[in-house]
Amino acid sequence: MPVYLDNNASAPVRPEAAAMAYRLLLQKGNASSVHSFGREMRGAVEEARASVAALAGAQASQVVFTSSATEANNMVLRHFKPAKVAVSAIEHPSVRQVHPQCLTLPVTADGLVDVSAAKAGMSKLPEGSLVSLMLVNNETGVIQPVRKIAAKARKRGLYIHCDAVQAAGRIAVDIEELEVDFLTLSAHKLGGPMGVGALIIRRGVAPPAPIFSGGGQERRVRPGTENVPAIGGFGVSAQLALKEIDQFQKLSALRDKMEEKIRQEAPQTIIYGAHARRVSNTSCFGLAGIHAQMLVMKLDLAGIAVSSGAACSSGVVRESPVILAMGASPEAAASTIRVSMGWQTLESDIDHFIKIWSNIIGGS
Ligand code: PLP
Repeated sequence: MPVYLDNNASAPVRPEAAAMAYRLLLQKGNASSVHSFGREMRGAVEEARASVAALAGAQASQVVFTSSATEANNMVLRHFKPAKVAVSAIEHPSVRQVHPQCLTLPVTADGLVDVSAAKAGMSKLPEGSLVSLMLVNNETGVIQPVRKIAAKARKRGLYIHCDAVQAAGRIAVDIEELEVDFLTLSAHKLGGPMGVGALIIRRGVAPPAPIFSGGGQERRVRPGTENVPAIGGFGVSAQLALKEIDQFQKLSALRDKMEEKIRQEAPQTIIYGAHARRVSNTSCFGLAGIHAQMLVMKLDLAGIAVSSGAACSSGVVRESPVILAMGASPEAAASTIRVSMGWQTLESDIDHFIKIWSNIIGGS
């Protein structure tokens, strides 16, 4: 049986979410129509909105559905001029690449945004600027000090955006507690359908300017007919992810077992972010000199799917900017692979990975 360990790229859709999406796909009507068909579709959107809001400690009225987290991130970042933006060095490309010339906040060797460097960086920004920080890094799984930095940013009159795509359903996410103004989610990291995300806006904060024109949907922030089947599936996956959040923590036992074995196999293996607090499902590691592309291919031939670097957007294998930002050499950064477990991962999947990994490393 093939083993899927690339859940940070995309988690398999949960059967309950797929069933909801399928039911809505077969249903007729536009959620903006006033007739009974339209009202039923509207009901499905609003039900999902409440479930997605609950996942982030928000009210339904704060949620704007988008086509992806990439779109939600772009909406926020594009609302600010480049000179009024700071992002961490380890943000997803949908944050980092919007204003390539903006201020970059460095990270420590453990993969944590450096709080004192962030404070110094933020002191250079004019009031009303934006700081964008992810809550959990997609490659290392390291949990970022968003709350600490947000509190300092607020004192300086700055806005905070938090990409919580890899955090939701894995650790508690609460927009109020984090004290952030904008928060991004994506359905397909939780076991929902691909192609739907959400931007959650703090109460009392004006929404960003829409990227599109031509409709009044989603509080006029995101015009365009809502993708009701995907939104319905998102709602169901959000409900389940929230319900199973304690269960998700148990994956750390499998991760620790795997990391112990790979260190036994090759003690020189570097596990990135191992000294920081991480989400339970993610492990990023490498052996300098053994190229990630070769490892991913050998694992794939043995029926195991993992990823290398930030492969979630293009499938192109290159040095990981996240690992480089942590101070690793280009050779080490080109040698990292990421194992990411999900709601469906079993202990036998990890045992199989360990067996195949030992064969590959032992024979290389
Ligand atoms: N932000 C982070 C941290 C991600 O890991 C990803 C996807 O890998 C995204 C944003 C983009 O999400 P989407 O696929 O919904 O555009």
